[in-house]
Amino acid sequence: MHYFDTVVVGAGLAGATAARVAAEKGKKTLVVEQHRHIAGHCHDAKNEVGITIHTYGPHIFHTNNKEVWNFVRRFSDFNYYQHRVLSYTEGCFIPFPIHTETINELFGIQIAASEVPNFLAEQVRTSSFDTPPKTFRDAIVSQVGEKLYTTFFENYTRKQWGRDPSLLSPEVAARIPVKANRDGRYFSDTYQGIPSQGYTAMVHAMLDHPNISVMLGADWFALKDELEASTTVFTGELDRFFDFKYGKLEYRSLDLVFKTFDKERYQPASVVNYPNDYDWTRITEYKYFLDEKSPSTTVCFEYPKSEGEPFYIVMTKENMERREHYMREVAALEKTGRWLFVGRLAEYKYYNMDQVIAAALHKTGTI
Ligand SMILES: Cc1cc2nc3c(=O)[nH]c(=O)nc-3n(C[C@H](O)[C@H](O)[C@H](O)COP(=O)(O)OP(=O)(O)OC[C@H]3O[C@@H](n4cnc5c(N)ncnc54)[C@H](O)[C@@H]3O)c2cc1C
Repeated sequence: MHYFDTVVVGAGLAGATAARVAAEKGKKTLVVEQHRHIAGHCHDAKNEVGITIHTYGPHIFHTNNKEVWNFVRRFSDFNYYQHRVLSYTEGCFIPFPIHTETINELFGIQIAASEVPNFLAEQVRTSSFDTPPKTFRDAIVSQVGEKLYTTFFENYTRKQWGRDPSLLSPEVAARIPVKANRDGRYFSDTYQGIPSQGYTAMVHAMLDHPNISVMLGADWFALKDELEASTTVFTGELDRFFDFKYGKLEYRSLDLVFKTFDKERYQPASVVNYPNDYDWTRITEYKYFLDEKSPSTTVCFEYPKSEGEPFYIVMTKENMERREHYMREVAALEKTGRWLFVGRLAEYKYYNMDQVIAAALHKTGTI
């Protein structure tokens, strides 16, 4: 039996934050990670042509939380990159998310930002949907009307979730920004950027503490009987922890196909969405993020799928009910003071990176 004050399951942002907090409180901490790399889903690395790629798809850091912003900047500088996305629609690259310029380009009109609310209200008035929204479709159509919904969301959602949008819950639409102004940035948070040396280097710096040991390529479930800890912080899959007793929680996965081209630029923005054309949902061109100079460029095509590495939680009624059962057990375990569950897998929750760090800082304040 090996004793540690704290054992952390997973070396993603949740695990690295928890480990760092524990270590700074003087706790001897072991981080167990099943993959052979740290940083979880925000892992990145330079590829063969020297471009930093994000292994699990594009990650842009953005937050309004000053505590989180101060925390991450202890471990990395940021380059203040501001994310802009184009949508390949009807043969044109149209700025997305929806704001004044999107409307003007799609409808071939020229209205001012101040006229956007009235324009959208008219689009909504002439569309049909349920109030209050019962589905994802209702949630979007009730904000922007049918034309914008069918152009940007309907097929994209089918590709992304493998389901008809009328079968998805309205909460999924809560994450889709619609702006009645001229701000064409994808995020409007006060603090935005990419760690200058990448996310992996940032997480490496978080874990670089004399009280932290990291074990890679090790599944905690196979080791747990040999580990004893005052506190175990679990950031792995919630249903697996409880041996799937309330059923399997569903995830959406992605096939990420990377291609390198012998040209300086592939597309006019870092991310281009393809709502209606082709089978991929989007293409990311990585050199934009850190403004890397190279005669070559690497892009990544994303094809959603139902099996594989768990990427996105699937917010259906059944999954959310199952989650409730598991979370009741989590609450009971956390009450003992010996367990903490944090992160996108352990809480089966859609979390951005800053929210994961905030949750880990908040929870581990009690270690
Ligand atoms: C395609 C995509 C794009 C995204 N883009 C953004 C973005 O632009 N901005 C943003 O803020 N957020 C983004 N996110 C969300 C972001 O990835 C997550 O919020 C964050 O990485 C979650 O951190 P985590 O530590 O909770 O989970 P993870 O990063 O998944 O870390 C959990 C770790 O636990 C390990 N683990 C699990 N089980 C075990 C076990 N039994 N034993 C040992 N180790 C185990 C896993 O291998 C993993 O490394 C995106 C997510 C995806 C899927």
